[in-house]
Amino acid sequence: MTERHKHQREPRETTTTTTTLTKAVTHIRLSETNVCKLAALDALAPVYQALCQRYVTYFCTEEAPDKFHDPVFATPLSERWHRVAIQQAAGIARAWRTNREQAYQNYLEEMEDYLETLVIPDSHQKEPEWKEWNTPVLRQMVIQANVNVVALEVSNASTFDYWLRISTLEKRKTIRVPVKLADYHRTTLAGKTINSSVTLNRRADGWWLTLTYEEKIVVQTEPDAPVIGVDVGIANFLTSSDGKYYGTFHGKLRERQKRDREKRRRKAKLRACLKKKGVEKLPSTSSKSGQRLIRHVRQEINRAVNVCLDEHPGAQIAYEQLSVASMKFKARAMNAYLRASNLAHIPEKIAWETAKRGMRATPVKSAYSSQECSVCHCVERKNRPDQQTFCCVVCGSSTHADQNAAINLAHRNEDAELHACQDRQAIRALLISRHEQWRKHQGWP
Ligand SMILES: [Zn+2]
Repeated sequence: MTERHKHQREPRETTTTTTTLTKAVTHIRLSETNVCKLAALDALAPVYQALCQRYVTYFCTEEAPDKFHDPVFATPLSERWHRVAIQQAAGIARAWRTNREQAYQNYLEEMEDYLETLVIPDSHQKEPEWKEWNTPVLRQMVIQANVNVVALEVSNASTFDYWLRISTLEKRKTIRVPVKLADYHRTTLAGKTINSSVTLNRRADGWWLTLTYEEKIVVQTEPDAPVIGVDVGIANFLTSSDGKYYGTFHGKLRERQKRDREKRRRKAKLRACLKKKGVEKLPSTSSKSGQRLIRHVRQEINRAVNVCLDEHPGAQIAYEQLSVASMKFKARAMNAYLRASNLAHIPEKIAWETAKRGMRATPVKSAYSSQECSVCHCVERKNRPDQQTFCCVVCGSSTHADQNAAINLAHRNEDAELHACQDRQAIRALLISRHEQWRKHQGWP
């Protein structure tokens, strides 16, 4: 069973101090006792997935994602199933568009940096390159269904806990699949109101069900509690604005990653060689040790987040609002699957863990937080002579680069002016004007 991290904070204006966590109960196996019933689900799934895929592409390339968009494609599915497919596709396309846009903004930032270095003689920085993203391809069979097509009904029979009533491809024909919970599922769900939307997953070994429920948690932190900024990175998974560091990808983890990469390289070579010789059954490319490494990094991240929060009781947290895409940019040193799957896990984990503890935590905009001087607000690439050092070219303030960024994030906690900025340019302009104010205040020309 895993807890998923979709969490919504109540709107700020209302002074309610509760957070709602959506918790998931996964790995509920759909019973195999009714093989022919599940066959009806097997028949429906590829039709559903194909339709969902068409809408994903449509929402990524032609129209803005809209959960309530009018149907545009023909399908043998019922109108209700059609609507569910549109909703799921709109969600996928929206996430893709957001991530792509953030990556593009990061590219523009890199470009800005690059153009600055052009005036420096003998600068060998490479011009950043933008590669357009491919639109998402649905590989795993996942159906996010609502009550109109899949309904969960309490079973009166003693042998099962619920029935899942599923509409099929055939008009007005539904199947009823028994759902038997494991004891630990039952304990978790006791006294909870299960959400009416459910997720069905088709894996090699059959169909699996995920249920969710809402949990309200009272925020314990006082609104005026001291703010701790948290910066996220590779050298230090977390750096707090009071100068503490938690977890690192360097050292042991990096050694393990290197070994794993070597192993995969050798495997790929072997495959190519065997293929040339006409061998049909090739060794798999997936790496068990790679999967283990990913799990291990996640554990290390979770530990780092927990230790950081433990050491700051009574504080409120300001952390970077980061997507998978921008994390990718932050983590050139890591290989693709690691950076995608793990670094983005850090802000998610912060959001989840703080919510669980009833700690106040606010995601803040992170643009220029690594280049801005936390004392005089001067934004300069040259403020960062190397990866670890921050040394302001104007006021001379000097700290560890990650701590400087964390302090900036803490300052941005209740920064409505910065929050209102629409894009990076606006943020840059705001920071420049703050720097000028600082100069005036110092009595500088
Ligand atoms: Zn400065």
